[in-house]
Amino acid sequence: MFRVVKIRDKVAQPSIPVYEHQVFALYKELIEEYPTKAPYELFRGKTKKAELVIVYKPNRKQRSRNSWYENRALMLLAKQNKWIIRKNVWTYKDGLPTEIDGQPINHEEVVIEVKRQIISQRSLDFLWEKAKATGAEKLIIVASGYKKTLKCRGNIECYIFEEDHATLQQYYTTECEIPEEMTPFLSRRHHRFLLTNGHWFPQRRRYTITAKWTYKQRLLRDITHLFRRKIPPVKIYYSLSRMINPLGEFQGKGYPTDLIMTAFDVDAAHIGEHLVNEKGICPLCVKDSKEKLKRLEKRLSNLGYRFTYFFSGSKGYHVYLLNTDGNFYESPPSFLKEMTLELEGLVDNFLSKKTKLFDKHRIFKVPGTVDASTGVIVSRNFKKIKFNDFLHPTSFKK
Ligand SMILES: [Zn+2]
Repeated sequence: MFRVVKIRDKVAQPSIPVYEHQVFALYKELIEEYPTKAPYELFRGKTKKAELVIVYKPNRKQRSRNSWYENRALMLLAKQNKWIIRKNVWTYKDGLPTEIDGQPINHEEVVIEVKRQIISQRSLDFLWEKAKATGAEKLIIVASGYKKTLKCRGNIECYIFEEDHATLQQYYTTECEIPEEMTPFLSRRHHRFLLTNGHWFPQRRRYTITAKWTYKQRLLRDITHLFRRKIPPVKIYYSLSRMINPLGEFQGKGYPTDLIMTAFDVDAAHIGEHLVNEKGICPLCVKDSKEKLKRLEKRLSNLGYRFTYFFSGSKGYHVYLLNTDGNFYESPPSFLKEMTLELEGLVDNFLSKKTKLFDKHRIFKVPGTVDASTGVIVSRNFKKIKFNDFLHPTSFKK
């Protein structure tokens, strides 16, 4: 969803969410266009009814809500057609920049739209108009379903995406392994789950290790609960900081201590359009973060540190420093800050922009869990679970 702010009779009206087709209608109503003032603005200008109209692009949070779904659908299309697909491509329609969900490399005549919704006649017509206006000759739509009695006016290939969550559930109930030596650290931390519906869900109870319960059993109990409610976890995170009140952290009241997992994020610097192949991971990002990891390994060895790392599941690595016994350990924020500056350019800087201090609310994916947007297990190698997702071709009256 885009957002629009209108100023009428010198009064700013509350911002309202609008669909893409409404954005285009609004753009056509402009009698004068002004230069935008921020990168997240799509356009600003004047209409007959308002002295100023500003349209904002969807923010990162809104865009990432269904990104697992888009990625999984694009993976399947890539596999089926032996394509490499450019993801979230910005192009032009009627002079206005617009985003399409995918476009195969070397097949610029094809536009792909992935929608986690039931497609209506109006959205079908709009998507075809949009595809045509961006210069495409063919549109591929992947969606959860289509309204009955649709009329397909145009060169459109429609698929219903059937998501497989059973394989993920199977993984958690039978195969999942959390590195044993990490569990005493993990049990004292806040956990949260990013769900298939785009919402966050906090852990329900503490993950304290007792004679009766292991950390993994506690974690799996919450995971099972989510599967039962048909909101499987797409990604599972824990807080790097040990928390006094791990359950309260979801409301920002976890009271993080100064005991922080000594870990760093190596993220890909690849900017611009990401690619999707049948593995679902952007090969350019992986190449980039692999090179960075190599340089970091060298640097850490020179500084005399032992370490281990996990592939983060989407594009980067999580590097954990080990003590002389080869065990994980916790550090104060001052040490993490010092190391972040020492390793500048190789690791992600998670110092707060305002305070320049280490961000104690920082979260990482739990090793051994799955990033369900790709199926990759957060582990040393690129181990993956294989989803049995399906694309069902569907056709409509012309
Ligand atoms: Zn990339």
